[in-house]
Amino acid sequence: MTANPARGQMAEMDAVRCHGPRDYRLERVPVPEPGPGEILLRSEAVGICGSDLKCYGGAPMFWGDETRTGYCQPPVTPGHEFVGRVAALDDEARRRHGVDVGERVAVEQIVPCESCAYCKAGQYWLCAPHDIFGFRQRTPGAMGEFMLVPPAARVHAFPAGLPPSHAALAEPLSCSLHAVDRGEVGADDVVVVAGAGPIGLGMVLGARRRQPRALVAIDLDPHRRSVAEQCGADVVLEPGDDVETTVLELTDGLGCDVYLDATGHPAGVTQGLQLLRKRGRFVEYGVFGQPVTTDWTVIGDGKELDIRGAHLGPGQWPTAIEMLSTGEVPADAIVTHEYPLDRFDEAFETAGTPGKAIKVSILPPGGQQ
Ligand SMILES: [Zn+2]
Ligand SMILES: [Zn+2]
Repeated sequence: MTANPARGQMAEMDAVRCHGPRDYRLERVPVPEPGPGEILLRSEAVGICGSDLKCYGGAPMFWGDETRTGYCQPPVTPGHEFVGRVAALDDEARRRHGVDVGERVAVEQIVPCESCAYCKAGQYWLCAPHDIFGFRQRTPGAMGEFMLVPPAARVHAFPAGLPPSHAALAEPLSCSLHAVDRGEVGADDVVVVAGAGPIGLGMVLGARRRQPRALVAIDLDPHRRSVAEQCGADVVLEPGDDVETTVLELTDGLGCDVYLDATGHPAGVTQGLQLLRKRGRFVEYGVFGQPVTTDWTVIGDGKELDIRGAHLGPGQWPTAIEMLSTGEVPADAIVTHEYPLDRFDEAFETAGTPGKAIKVSILPPGGQQ
């Protein structure tokens, strides 16, 4: 067991603790003590995700309703999009993850149980208990000075050099790349990405790599549209009537081949069903705050569509880390705001204000140096 340098200096640390919807507090908590196979990580940066905002705002999927128990298990430290430096680990963790003290790592957001049917089948991102950092008692997240990385976590070494908030984009980018994969985007395709937030912009970057026939990005916000162009979109559009006209013009009147939805809004769904050609591929990545109502006839009788879901970023982390490290991602334009840990409430406020931010990142003390 490597000595825990953190504990020598301090027994307590600051951490944001989620107690319930809109009840997040900065508290003094004990610095966690790593057990066998665990890594003590000094958090450097943690992005605020759409799911964090929905949890903060009280969405039923996190807090439950008559039909389900909530996913969030308070009190818990939030934060699943993060990088940090290894502060302490034992030989077992060193062997398991191939990293050592002082190294920067990115850690996948889900910590697989390693024993359910999905984990046994290699589909760890669909793990049944589904413990994601920042929501569950087994996996407290990165909005504190230190955190524990359990043995079953998937850890990726991250080359030094990038600002921590940029490196922390590895999580949303891996998700975007998985969605592009699910859409089987190829060179003959006209691809539409709906929503140019962090996930949609990553979809544009991922789709661009596959050199599609045309790549269209749609967003309400002019700034986001300009960042989408920077990410490689050929055409950027505001939602509305001319979207369909433009897509039909690009496709000899047929409609787009692939529609990647990262809006989280019901209108993003109906728009996709309208824009797709027959036998087109619809990939849903959004997390919705409300049910979507639409005429399903279009899926079968109308167009024989493939409707595909995508969740997390399995197999995509090395590519995401490489794209960030080589500067392929305009991270400066995507990370619009950084806040220290003790201003987390402003960070959530900014992230939740439409038209204000793209990615808001919180920098605990470990990311301030
Ligand atoms: Zn996320
Ligand atoms: Zn499992």
